[in-house]
Amino acid sequence: MAVQESAARNDREEECETCGRTTPHGVDIRIVDESNEGSTKYAREPYRIATCQVCGAERAQRMNDA
Ligand SMILES: [Zn+2]
Repeated sequence: MAVQESAARNDREEECETCGRTTPHGVDIRIVDESNEGSTKYAREPYRIATCQVCGAERAQRMNDA
């Protein structure tokens, strides 16, 4: 079997709360505009979006959170 080229979407095994088990997820990076309370500034934050390939549930995780 030939080696696959690296794709933008990598299937990763991750825990899915909806499925209640570890399932393959497609991972995207998405830039989300955020408004912060007490500030007029809008922050554009990159989020990592993991989509369950079994049930389609999305889980967003802020990449700048430590
Ligand atoms: Zn799922």
